[in-house]
Amino acid sequence: MIRSGATLGVLGGGQLGLFFVLSARRMGYKTVVLDPDPTSPAMSAADRSIVSAYDNDNALIDLSESCAAITTEFENVPARSLEFLADRGVVRPSPLSVATCQDRIREKRFLSENGFPTAPFLVLSRESLPPSESLQPFLPGILKTAREGYDGKGQWAIRTPDDLTSLLSITPGPFVLEKRLDLEREFSLVIVRGADGKTLLYPVAENIHEEGILHISSVPADIPPDLQKNIREIGEAIAQTLDYTGILAVEYFLDTSGRLFVNELAPRPHNSGHYTMDACIASQFDQQVRALCGLPLASANLLSPCSMGNILGNIWSGNTPPDFTSIFRHPQAKLTLYGKAAPRHGRKMGHFTVLGPSVHESAATVHALLTQISGKPSQNS
Ligand code: ADP
Ligand code: MG
Repeated sequence: MIRSGATLGVLGGGQLGLFFVLSARRMGYKTVVLDPDPTSPAMSAADRSIVSAYDNDNALIDLSESCAAITTEFENVPARSLEFLADRGVVRPSPLSVATCQDRIREKRFLSENGFPTAPFLVLSRESLPPSESLQPFLPGILKTAREGYDGKGQWAIRTPDDLTSLLSITPGPFVLEKRLDLEREFSLVIVRGADGKTLLYPVAENIHEEGILHISSVPADIPPDLQKNIREIGEAIAQTLDYTGILAVEYFLDTSGRLFVNELAPRPHNSGHYTMDACIASQFDQQVRALCGLPLASANLLSPCSMGNILGNIWSGNTPPDFTSIFRHPQAKLTLYGKAAPRHGRKMGHFTVLGPSVHESAATVHALLTQISGKPSQNS
């Protein structure tokens, strides 16, 4: 067990790293953040920052020598860097778990080989492009880059084999071509698993995306008990199969025929779990610290139904933030901004949560407040 007073390291200094640092601080740990960007949000809260590429051996040795244990907030840290750190100290989740989740081809193969339901998919690249007839079962589809895609980036709609050839002439891949499903609903599950295998599940969240980016997330998802059971059992089995330690998030699709699919895995806290900071005894970041340090896990119980709305750079005008008064005025709402300097389109700048009274009312309030702060109607409201 790594006790309070020790120093913990985190790879990545975005908002997920920031919340990890804040949780660690509250629990009496010191923190070091490694990120190539000297303006990353977590650096303002950490005890020390190492500004470096993720694959710089000297920086990794420095991090390793400073820290009793290291985790990641970012799944695209090179697996080799995690292995390098794991050879020198405690790294959780394991480099193998992160390597499986950071590459869509490995991730999809892991899921399908272990019997977890995924959308029909095909692995391809410019060098290995199957004949047109073999593409048909996957069309219309979505071409997803094997690595480094996030928030809908690195994805292209493919209707015909010609769409595919023209895309491959620009970028060689490798890719996963995934059949486009008729989505009815989307869900996610945040799982915390200790090094001893003890596993806790946060409530199933229902998610609405806009332009491939999480827009609104609500808990507990209003779903029938059998669907809830299915989502939870699949999530727990995935964590167990990966022999995972730490926070794992699983995203799910439900199609219009009522079939459930696993979409993707995130080997880190998840945007749809941010409500845990406001509506749970222990947040996903508190549990990340606990799992990393081998402490007992805290309850993952929900104290109140809750919805979260993401606040994107789209609604800044230049460098001026929108007017948040309507959120501040609402007695059950709580605003969290990440302290990012450059408000780009599609960039996550903050979020807010609304607690209760019911999940339907909190979701309706989030829609209404998003409309007010952005000056345009929120999707699906
Ligand atoms: P990211 O890594 O950017 O989150 P995802 O694969 O989760 O990428 O895709 C982002 C969103 O795009 C999903 O949440 C969903 O709304 C939509 N999407 C992705 N794949 C499919 C699919 N096969 N069929 C229908 N919609 C999809
Ligand atoms: Mg996703």
